[in-house]
Amino acid sequence: MTDRYAVVGNPIDHSKSPLIHGMFAKAAGQDIVYDKILVPQGGFASVADDFRAAGGKGLNITAPCKLDAYAYADKTSPSAQLAGAVNALRFGVEGVEGENFDGVGLVRDITVNLQQAMTGRRVLMLGAGGAARGALLPFLEQQPAVLHIVNRTVGKAEELARIGASHGNVSAGGYDTVEAGAYDLVINATSASLTGDAPPISADAFGGATLAYELAYGKGLTPFLRIAREGAPQIAIADGVGMLAEQAAEAFAWWRGVRPDTAAVIAAITIPLS
Ligand code: NDP
Repeated sequence: MTDRYAVVGNPIDHSKSPLIHGMFAKAAGQDIVYDKILVPQGGFASVADDFRAAGGKGLNITAPCKLDAYAYADKTSPSAQLAGAVNALRFGVEGVEGENFDGVGLVRDITVNLQQAMTGRRVLMLGAGGAARGALLPFLEQQPAVLHIVNRTVGKAEELARIGASHGNVSAGGYDTVEAGAYDLVINATSASLTGDAPPISADAFGGATLAYELAYGKGLTPFLRIAREGAPQIAIADGVGMLAEQAAEAFAWWRGVRPDTAAVIAAITIPLS
C-alpha cells in the first residue's frame, strides 16, 4: 500500500511541501502520497488522530500547530525539546515521534548551499521566537566566535542566551546592543517581513558582513534585505527557501531512509530576490 504523508497547518493552501516532497519522492523512486490538510482552530489532535487511524505514516507541521504537535508526540528529540515545538511527526511501532528540523535545515542552507562557514564567525540573530529557538543549538554546534541574539522583547533573547550558555559563546540584548560592522552573518529570524516591516536595525550593522539571511521566503527583496544592501552593497543575500527545502529533506530522510538532493527543488521554488 502507498504510504501517506501530509503537511498540516492553518492556513495551508500556500504550502509548497506537497510539491517539494512530490519531487523528492519522484527523484528517489519512493512510492508515497503527500497531501495538505487544513487544521481548524484547536483541532490539531483530532486531525492527527484521524490521519493515523487511516494509516498515515508522518506529518509535517506548520504554523500555528507546532506547539500542539510537540504536546501530541510521545517522544521528542533534543532539538524539538529545546524549541518546544515539532515540525515533523513519525507514526510507527515506537509510537508518535516528534522532531524539529528547522534549525538543521537553516544551518545546512547557510553552510552547504550558500558556502558560508559559521565556525569562528560572528553571527547576529534577530528575533527570539520559535524559529530562533530551533536554530539555537544547531548554530552553536557550528562553534561561531559569538552568537549575539537581539529581540524586541529582550527577556526572550536573554532566555535563549541562558539556554545556550553551556553550548557556546552566546550573548543577548535589545536592538540597542547591535554594534556597527561587528558581524559576519546577520540572520533575520523575526516575522517582521510577513507584514512588510523591518526589524529595527540600521544599515551600519551590515558593514563588513558577508551574508544577510532572511528566514521568510517568497517575499522577494524584503525590507530587512534592502537595509542589508544599503549597508553593504556587496553582501550576499538569501531568503528561507533553501531552509524550507533542507528541513523537508531532513524529514524525508527520517521517514524514508533516503536523503534526497535539494538542488532541483530549490531551483523550482525560488522567487528572485529583486
Ligand atoms: P514567532 O511568531 O515564533 O516569532 C516572531 C519573532 O519576530 C519574535 O521574536 C518577535 O519579537 C519578532 N517580531 C515580529 N514582528 C517584529 C517587528 N516588526 N520588529 C521586530 N521584531 C519582530 O515566529 P517564527 O519564529 O515561527 O517565524 C519567524 C520567521 O521565520 C517568519 O518569517 C517565518 O516565516 C520564518 N520561518 C521560515 C521557515 C523556513 O523554512 N524558511 C521555517 C520557520 C519559520 P517579540 O518576541 O518581541 O514579539
